[in-house]
Amino acid sequence: MNLIDTHCHLYDEPLAGDRDGVLQRARAAGVEAIVVVGTMLSTSRRAVDLAQPAMGDHAVGPDLWPDVWAAVGLHPDATEPVDPDALSGLIARSQGRVVAVGEIGLDGSRGKERVAAQEPAFRAQLTLARDHDLPVMIHSRDATGRVVRILEELGPGGPGGILHAFAGSREVATALIGLGFVLGVAGVACRPQATRIRKVLGALPLSALVLETDAPFIGTATRRPGEVEPAQVLEVCHALAELHGLDPDEVAATTTATARRILSLPADPDA
Ligand SMILES: [Zn+2]
Repeated sequence: MNLIDTHCHLYDEPLAGDRDGVLQRARAAGVEAIVVVGTMLSTSRRAVDLAQPAMGDHAVGPDLWPDVWAAVGLHPDATEPVDPDALSGLIARSQGRVVAVGEIGLDGSRGKERVAAQEPAFRAQLTLARDHDLPVMIHSRDATGRVVRILEELGPGGPGGILHAFAGSREVATALIGLGFVLGVAGVACRPQATRIRKVLGALPLSALVLETDAPFIGTATRRPGEVEPAQVLEVCHALAELHGLDPDEVAATTTATARRILSLPADPDA
């Protein structure tokens, strides 16, 4: 099986303290690539530091690692101002290992009034992505209508990318797909009680979906929030396979091909 975890926070505990173990367990679960996503300038820098090619022969020791890539950007809850020059510097320093600008977006879950204040940073980073010809990794919570309107304003020339941990309606999904986006399927898909979102994910074309864990944050059926690792992307794959009535291998192959296309990742030399 060849899986890609398109969204995780490897620099956060408890993942950072056991990085080698986390990466080896991911590889053992069939994960061939991981995208580490920044939330502030400091964590974006750490994402770039972690991003590295899988090394040579995968037979021994640390070479059991998946390929690690980075996304840099400021989360809507970040309190610092966007510094496009600093983010551009990180993109340049990464020598091609930054594959997206993110996570950026809008979050109204702690008060709708916060969304307007988050909008300038979101727009500035959409521009940054376009300037660097990179896709975006969007975080959208209780603000999806506004996110879609802003992306529609940018039109077909917008950057495209991944709407991470998608939990919206089928209509919103269709609008986003039309704007060049694919939808990130996270651990929520594994939870039997998440009936509404499971129904939506089961009805969407598999070709518009990619897998993620948002590790360590989004819980699955077997792991509590805060205890998730990229290896659990396998559990997400199985859940999505069940929703689509497909073999997990087929879901892995399709979602991995989509992730490689949307993030412009080179083909896995081991595949
Ligand atoms: Zn995240």
